Amino acid sequence: MSEHSHSTTAADAASAPGNAPTGHPIPRSRRGLTAALAAALPLGLAACGSAATAEDAGDKPVVLTTFTVLADIADNVAGEHLEVESITKAGAEIHGYEPTPGDIRKAAKADLVLDNGLNLEQWFSQFVDEVDVPHTVVSEGVDELSITENAYAGKPNPHAWMSPLNVQIYAENMARAFADLDPDHAEDFAANAKDYSEQLQTVQDDLVDDLSTLPKSQRALVTCEGAFSYLARDAGLREKYIWPVNAESQATPGQITSAIEFVEDNDVPAVFCESTVSQAPMDRVVEATEAEFGGTLYVDSLSEADGPVPTYLDLIRHDAQVIAEALTGSES
Ligand SMILES: [Zn+2]
Repeated sequence: MSEHSHSTTAADAASAPGNAPTGHPIPRSRRGLTAALAAALPLGLAACGSAATAEDAGDKPVVLTTFTVLADIADNVAGEHLEVESITKAGAEIHGYEPTPGDIRKAAKADLVLDNGLNLEQWFSQFVDEVDVPHTVVSEGVDELSITENAYAGKPNPHAWMSPLNVQIYAENMARAFADLDPDHAEDFAANAKDYSEQLQTVQDDLVDDLSTLPKSQRALVTCEGAFSYLARDAGLREKYIWPVNAESQATPGQITSAIEFVEDNDVPAVFCESTVSQAPMDRVVEATEAEFGGTLYVDSLSEADGPVPTYLDLIRHDAQVIAEALTGSES
């Protein structure tokens, strides 16, 4: 974790747009990893990976995803027909993850790999470049939003899964990819995706409904990281964040002042922060304004099974409810 949380200042980042252009720094040891890959793969295995798995008759095809959120969505679409795994574990930092040789062996043995795309997993491109396994980018077709600040300006915001409407597209993309992988169960995959999409639609409709009592000026989502652009867009909220992307300089005095001014100008009743970052900068916004701290939001990872958000539907329902309740001051 050390080299991607290096303390690049906002000024550094702004003056060096080539540095970590998406906010998801490139692992230092690309060469080292390629060497590890070569060591991990017996000669010729990459070329005949799918033939090897086809011989394991009776075994379910293995779908490998980059992080826990995708794994859970994929599991819902796959039903009982496929074995779904995640490379990163619950609670892991996903933006700057560095794959291990074990991860690469796992990828080489998978029948399909799924990644988010939108530059979330720069580390993952090494898998798909080097390992001969079918690959699907699940955000394909999402109406993408760009980051608007600092060195990241113009780069896609990777957090598309934070809108339930986008995840309907993810589920359709997965159903199609699974049908190619396992044509016998294509109808089940399509039906599972449809079921899941209906549950996502309910989360979306409830959120919009809950927020409808709020005066227009107060329909604003103020968070630590700019991870909620898609949710805000699709729920009719304006978005304000302290810093655009994790893993750069976080919460400069100017950024905090800007958030304080936004909260005051718009009479925003509550502000939020994410589970994976320090809440301290948002506490300063709360101290300086009338806003209260509305709660902790989950974005980049599910919790363990006994935690608050063990599935994606739990995660998005949790966030939607916390946001609606804090902004409207009512239990939904
Ligand atoms: Zn993130």
